[in-house]
Amino acid sequence: MKIMEQELLRLQNEARQQLELLAKDDTLSMAQQQLEDFRIRYLGRKGLFGTIMRELGTVSADERPRLGQLANTVKSEIEKLFAEKQAELCGNAGEKKGRGGIDISLPGRYPERGRLHPVTQIMNEVCSIFESLGFSVAEGPDVEHDHYNFEALNIPAHHPARDMHDTFYVSESILLRTHTSPMQARIMESQQPPLRVIAPGKVYRCDSDITHTPMFHQVEGFLVDTQVSFADLKGILTVFTQKMFDKELALRFRPSFFPFTEPSAEVDIACVICGGKGCRVCKQTGWLEILGAGMIDPEVFKMVGYDPEIYSGFAFGLGIERIAMLKYGINDIRLYYENDLRFLSQF
Ligand SMILES: [Zn+2]
Repeated sequence: MKIMEQELLRLQNEARQQLELLAKDDTLSMAQQQLEDFRIRYLGRKGLFGTIMRELGTVSADERPRLGQLANTVKSEIEKLFAEKQAELCGNAGEKKGRGGIDISLPGRYPERGRLHPVTQIMNEVCSIFESLGFSVAEGPDVEHDHYNFEALNIPAHHPARDMHDTFYVSESILLRTHTSPMQARIMESQQPPLRVIAPGKVYRCDSDITHTPMFHQVEGFLVDTQVSFADLKGILTVFTQKMFDKELALRFRPSFFPFTEPSAEVDIACVICGGKGCRVCKQTGWLEILGAGMIDPEVFKMVGYDPEIYSGFAFGLGIERIAMLKYGINDIRLYYENDLRFLSQF
């Protein structure tokens, strides 16, 4: 029965070494797994010691007591070492809660950081550029009087320009503002020149497709003083587009019509994608329309009590979503409003 004795001592050594190898710097869950593997392999019901114990039944009666005693001694020594190792690796948590203990070595769970909506980011950027040029920021109501949205801007009732606005009416004289221009009238009515103001905010039009949403964002800007000329408008817009798109971009003014400015212009910038060579975004023209502008119509000045012989000024309005689409290269405006975090978290 020398063989069984040798086998027992060999197993004792092997089990000792295995326990030594269990590393302290493994994570708790890994250590727990290794301990469990060890327990099954050596101490489990079908483990190596269990097998030897069963084989004791086959040895001769006079050998059995001695071998049985040896087997018990070896097994309890390994069980003791196992318990020590378990306490060492799993610490107090392991002792108190066993294998379901708290793993203090796991990295913590952090709440995911939120971020500003891309439209808000562009809006803030536009505002800070104009603030750096000396403009102050004013905000007004989304629900507006017909008077400020149309009348005071030289768009009387039945004027054909009203048709272009696809207005949401709340009642006969109350509406959701179709542009941020009412702020021009509101501010000029209550303040005297010189004025340098931008008015950012939401505007509403009954319109929805790949480039239009029923609610969108505009920034209105205007400057009133003595001797303001179209060149001042061009200068301000040149600085703005350069800062906004981080490069020098050619500007093009196309004659246009707005009831509250005269002369009026649609302003294009050289395509930010192809630099003017022509591409799909600019429809091969090399130009992108970014805003409407013009010199404030003398009729608007008269309605707020300014003398158009003394004062002149310019006004412009730009769409934030449009700028954001160009800046980020996005071709469907609706993506901004579908609340898809996979889209929004890219900004
Ligand atoms: Zn292009």
